[in-house]
Amino acid sequence: MTKIACQKCQTEYPDDRIPYKCECGGLFDYADFPAYSENFVNHSSFGMMKYSKLFGLNEVSDWVTLGEGNTPLLQTSVNGSKIFCKMESHNPTGSYKDRGSAVLVSFLKSRGVNFAVEDSSGNAGASFAGYSARADLKARVYVPESASGPKKLQIERYGAELVSVPGLRSEAAKAVLSATQAGVVYASHAWMPFGLTGIATIAYEIVEQFGQVPGTLVAPVGHGGLLYGIMRGFESMTKAGNIPQEPFYVGVQSNGCSPVTLAYSHQSTQIVDVPNYETAAEGVKVAQPARGSSILERMKAGKGKMISIDENSLLDAWRISASQGFYMEPTSALVWAVIQQNIKDFKTPVVAIITGSGYKSTILS
Ligand SMILES: [Zn+2]
Repeated sequence: MTKIACQKCQTEYPDDRIPYKCECGGLFDYADFPAYSENFVNHSSFGMMKYSKLFGLNEVSDWVTLGEGNTPLLQTSVNGSKIFCKMESHNPTGSYKDRGSAVLVSFLKSRGVNFAVEDSSGNAGASFAGYSARADLKARVYVPESASGPKKLQIERYGAELVSVPGLRSEAAKAVLSATQAGVVYASHAWMPFGLTGIATIAYEIVEQFGQVPGTLVAPVGHGGLLYGIMRGFESMTKAGNIPQEPFYVGVQSNGCSPVTLAYSHQSTQIVDVPNYETAAEGVKVAQPARGSSILERMKAGKGKMISIDENSLLDAWRISASQGFYMEPTSALVWAVIQQNIKDFKTPVVAIITGSGYKSTILS
C-alpha cells in the first residue's frame, strides 16, 4: 500500500484493522500520493481500471468494477462562452462516486470484509450499494430521511439494507457511528482515503481527452472528496512533468450550506459548523466536510477559490442546462450557475464537473 498516514499524528494506516479514522481522531490521507506515470497506464483495460496501478493498493489483485470512468468531455456554451462538461453522471450508478467506490470496495474485499456500513446523502450510498452487490458484500446504508426517493430506491434495489434517519444529514452520520461501535466496518467514503485515487482519475482522463490542462476547473464541494481527489490527480501529473501546471480550482457550495466558502472568505483553513438550511443541492448538505481543510490549504496557496450560489440561481441553471440537453442533478447545477455568473473572469478553457444524473432528483420546480 502507498503510504497512508494520519494528518494529525502521522500514524500509518494499520495492516491488521480497517479503521475509518485514526485513534487520535485525525483523518487518514495519502502521505505519498501514487506518482503518475504514463508507463503505469494500461491502455488495453477499459475505463478507470486502466489506471489501477495508480490506485496505490498493490495488495489488491481482483478489482471490483462496473465499467466506471471514461466519461465524455462534452463541449457546450454558457452565456455565449465555450465550456467543457465532464459527464460523471454517465457512471454506472449515475454519479462520480463510482470511481471512489470501485477502489474502496476492492480494498475491503482484499481485507476479507463481508459486511460494512456507510452513510450518505444518497449518491455515495447508492454507489456503495451497487459495488457491494457486485462484490457480494453485505451492505447497510444510513441516509437522511430527506434524501431523494430515487436514490433510496436504488440502494434497496441493489439489495443493501436501507436505514432512513429522521433529521439532518449529520443525524445519519451519528447513527452509523453507533453501529460501528459494535465492531462493524464503517466504509466511509468521506473519511476513508481509499476512494481518492479513484477520483484522481478524473484529472488523468481530462488531460488525456483534452490534450491540455484546463484553465479553470469547477466542481461542487460537499465533503470535498471530489475536488480534493481531482487536485491530488493534477498535482501528481504536475510532479511527474506530464503537465506544466494545475488548473485554477473553483469549488462551489449552496448558500443553504456553505462551511467551506465561509472559511475561505475568512482566509481560514478551519471549518466552522454552519446552520444547515434547505437546498435542492443535496450533495453539498454537509456541515462538517472531511476534506474541507485540505482544499482550503491549497486555495490559501493561490490554487483556487470558493463561491456559493443562491437557490434561485441554482434552479434557473438547472432548467437552462436541461434545455441544452444536460439532465443533471441539482448539485451539478451549482457548477453551471457559478459559470453563468463568472465565466468572464475564468481562465479558459473551463471544465465543469457534472457530478450526477437528473434521474435521481424529485425536485419539480
Ligand atoms: Zn492520528
